[in-house]
Amino acid sequence: MRVVVVPCLSDNFAYLVISGTRAAVIDPSEAAPIEAALAREGVTLAAIWCTHHHWDHTGGIGDLVDKHPGIDVVISTIDAEKLEPKTRRCITKLVGDGDLVALENVKARVILNPGHTLGAISFHIEDPGAVFTGDTLFAAGCGRVFEGDPAMMRASLTKLAALPPETLVYFGHEYTAANLKFAIAAEPNNYKIKNRIAALATPSTPSTVKLERDTNPFVRADSVEEFAKRREWKNNFK
Ligand SMILES: [Zn+2]
Repeated sequence: MRVVVVPCLSDNFAYLVISGTRAAVIDPSEAAPIEAALAREGVTLAAIWCTHHHWDHTGGIGDLVDKHPGIDVVISTIDAEKLEPKTRRCITKLVGDGDLVALENVKARVILNPGHTLGAISFHIEDPGAVFTGDTLFAAGCGRVFEGDPAMMRASLTKLAALPPETLVYFGHEYTAANLKFAIAAEPNNYKIKNRIAALATPSTPSTVKLERDTNPFVRADSVEEFAKRREWKNNFK
């Protein structure tokens, strides 16, 4: 299995998970960069896996399904309800916590991690360790809590941070520079955040679970109150 990063829109990441000559695409916000990546890699699209319903993670579904009829299109049962009808009609598989999706012999387990949206999910591939977290866990940050509450979002981050430390974390947006600026304000004495700032390169994806445990101020918040305080502070942080 290999993963190809596909930058989309201004700061989104879609990803191709490739096994042999077939690929699953995660969070295609638009079709054109995905088609270009498929052609470049010489692989056929077999599936679309979506982490949540927002348009900048699902906007390319209609065009991709038109071009590649019969492919699997996966989203959580909860978030499917919020898709616009023309995108919702393309969905072939509704999933929940613990379900498996497969591309050839690559199996990804669904982790329900509500907070950013109520049906937000991550796709975890155990071997080689990789998790696709959408807008829940970012490098040094987390998504805004749009549909859930702080307790829910913190529980979701805790669940992701409990994956094996070497697991690669493929996240949904290139927000890392701004996230690190906030992280060092939240934890001015954390030298691992300082080191991460010094080493930052773009694209900054993937991260690792260990790096997030060490430097992500939202993963590291030690109570719901601390998490809520940091999330509120970050919402207005410049
Ligand atoms: Zn989102």
